[in-house]
Amino acid sequence: MIFRQLFERESSTYTYLVACTETRSAALIDTVKSEVVKYLQLLTELDLQLVYVLDTHTHADHITGAGELRDATDCKTLLGQEAGSACVSQALHDGDQIPVGNLILKAIYTPGHTDDSYCYVLEHRNQICVFTGDTLLIRGTGRTDFQNGSAVDQYHSLFSKLLTLPDHTLVYPAHDYKGWQLSTIAEEKAHNPRLQVPNVDAYVELMGNLDLPNPTLMDVAVPANRACGK
Ligand code: FE
Repeated sequence: MIFRQLFERESSTYTYLVACTETRSAALIDTVKSEVVKYLQLLTELDLQLVYVLDTHTHADHITGAGELRDATDCKTLLGQEAGSACVSQALHDGDQIPVGNLILKAIYTPGHTDDSYCYVLEHRNQICVFTGDTLLIRGTGRTDFQNGSAVDQYHSLFSKLLTLPDHTLVYPAHDYKGWQLSTIAEEKAHNPRLQVPNVDAYVELMGNLDLPNPTLMDVAVPANRACGK
C-alpha cells in the first residue's frame, strides 16, 4: 500500500492519498482545490492512476478539488447521498465498499458534524485505519451547529460506530490546527475531552456551549462544494 498525508495550510486540511502497490490505482480523500496541481504531480511521480476522489462531507471551510481532478484524470467523485449533490459520479450509502485496486475503503455513515458525514475504514494486512473527516478530530470533534449538524447524531456516530472500532485503529482526521497528525481509537477514548461525557445529554450540552464563529469561507465553500468545487 502507498499512503501519504498531505497538508493544506490555509484551512489546515489533511488530504490522504491511498494507493494499491500492485495495480497502481489510487484514491484521494478530502482534496483542496488550490492543491490540485500538486496532487497531479505526485500521482505522476508515483506512477499512480487516480480512480476515486472522496469527500467525507460537504466542507464549509475549503473548496474541494474533486471536480477539477475528475476533469484531469477521469476519476470518479464520491460523496454521501445525503449531500444531494447532482454533480458527483456516485452517491455513497452506509456500508458501501469502494475498491482501490486490491484495497477496499468501507464507507460508514456518521452524521452529526453535517448530515452528509461519512468516515472511511481501510484494513490492510494487520493494520486498520479510519479517515474520520470532521466527525472525530485529534482531541476534539467537529462542530455541530450548522449544515444540518446534530450533537445527538454525532454522539451516536462516535459512541456506537467509531469508538467500536478496534482500539489500535489509526485515526486520520480531515483537519488539525495544532500539528497533530495521527491518533488511535484507544488514545481518543482515553484523552479526547469531548469523549469524557457520561451520556448523550451531556454531549449535547458540551457542544451547545462552544460558541464558535462561522468559517470565513462558508458562504462560498458550501455552494461551490455542492457543485464539486466548480
Ligand atoms: Fe467540516
